[in-house]
Amino acid sequence: MSKRKIVIEPDPILRKKSETLEKVDDELRSLLDDMLETMYAAPGIGLAAVQIGILKRLIVIDISKEKEKKDPLFLINPEIVSKSKKTSVHEEGCLSLPGHFAEIERPAECQIKYIGYDGKQKEIKASGLLSTCIQHEIDHLNGILFIDYLSKLKKDMILKKLIKNKKELNKIVL
Ligand code: ZN
Repeated sequence: MSKRKIVIEPDPILRKKSETLEKVDDELRSLLDDMLETMYAAPGIGLAAVQIGILKRLIVIDISKEKEKKDPLFLINPEIVSKSKKTSVHEEGCLSLPGHFAEIERPAECQIKYIGYDGKQKEIKASGLLSTCIQHEIDHLNGILFIDYLSKLKKDMILKKLIKNKKELNKIVL
């Protein structure tokens, strides 16, 4: 396993639609392992492949609270089958928008169809934090970021700060 570099907004790749995968092989599993390592190291609870610059419909998630008991979830080609009418609000952050958080309202429950690490078709019903996390990550696969749900004013403010931070990071001191 190796850690990859996380893409930070603004970056045009984060706005692109990721591609569906045709087959699950060892090469793909190795990429999923890298994504998981990158997510744990960040640390974060969810990561989409586009966030390491790969436009494939792949997501890793681990919302387990205890560090000793890891409980990773690998989602290949995830699809939302149904969403609840009932909504819930969580404060969301994103590894591609470091330091920024906002309360986002989403369907409280969702049913997901996906292919697992073993290559088999699976289906789960998610609620609570897992439901929010899956919807946030599937948004990434469609080029959507959580700031897109905010008012233009709030979104522009966050983007301005991110651009400023990026400029600071690119400065070199000799
Ligand atoms: Zn994110």
